[in-house]
Amino acid sequence: MILAVTMNPSVDISYPVGRFKVDDVNRVETVRKTAGGKGLNVARVISQMEEDVLTTGVLGGTIGDYIIQQLNNSNIPNDFLKIEKESRNCIAILHEGMQTEILESGPTLSREEGTAFLEKFESMLNDVSLVTISGSLPKGLPANFYHHMLIISNKKGIPVIVDSSGESLKQVLLQGGGKPFAIKPNTAELSQLLGIEVGEGIIDLKQTLSQEIFHGIEWIIVSMGGDGAFVRHGEDYYRVTIPKIIVVNPVGSGDATVAGLAVALNRNQRVETVLKTAMTTGMLNTMEAETGSINMTKFNQYLDFVKVEKID
Ligand code: ADP
Repeated sequence: MILAVTMNPSVDISYPVGRFKVDDVNRVETVRKTAGGKGLNVARVISQMEEDVLTTGVLGGTIGDYIIQQLNNSNIPNDFLKIEKESRNCIAILHEGMQTEILESGPTLSREEGTAFLEKFESMLNDVSLVTISGSLPKGLPANFYHHMLIISNKKGIPVIVDSSGESLKQVLLQGGGKPFAIKPNTAELSQLLGIEVGEGIIDLKQTLSQEIFHGIEWIIVSMGGDGAFVRHGEDYYRVTIPKIIVVNPVGSGDATVAGLAVALNRNQRVETVLKTAMTTGMLNTMEAETGSINMTKFNQYLDFVKVEKID
């Protein structure tokens, strides 16, 4: 079973208003509210791929209850640590072809809640074969929190995919004692991590991924939106290309990619299949209106369009 973690989930609300009036009243007829957060997107796509998944993290208050209700309605098994403070809402106002976002930063966790989650996490690992950790850390937790989770998982021999950015990703890569099995930065996250502008050329990317900071990570998938991905697997490098498709909503594509990667790795598939699967689930997500959701009936057709080329 795959365990998908989201430490800062949200209820994502979209308000389509036509024309957005500032300093005035805006009325909304069709409100859409979904359980959001990167790890929840990962869990949803894994479940759509019919792989066993459990989702965890921390949540609280009536917003937390709503997230659980939504997950239950979608038959996604969940076991979150309840915290004292209310989980967050993230609001997207859709107007004049634009999207204005209002993102609550979310609850601040106490040190005790952080410790309680680590204990819960450890106790959940018995039936778990792979862990995914996605998104930002809530306030109150130390930047090396994901690193703690990684060490706990690695002690039990469970591989971890980390899809985070900024300081929490840096801590996962720089602290000793364990490495993630896979990471999936996009080029912007890679540039932020290394403090340099990373180009999308093959020579540039090969040089970048051969740096010391990435040693010991089995899979590094640098996702590049419509341009596919550049990958390091062990000492091998691959360029993965995808067809042009009609994009409906690209939000959550990285999460769908992580889900495809997790499922293929969990099924011990060969390198080419792993990469093709991860790219296909990313692509399928862009073709749906719902964030972090794929239509599996299109999977085989699009899998055949993905090309994996080994780089010498
Ligand atoms: P993130 O959402 O983390 O920034 P990307 O934008 O790189 O991740 O998207 C992840 C994957 O989703 C890509 O590698 C690709 O497979 C698919 N994807 C994203 N955007 C597009 C697009 N415009 N056309 C086709 N596939 C896309």
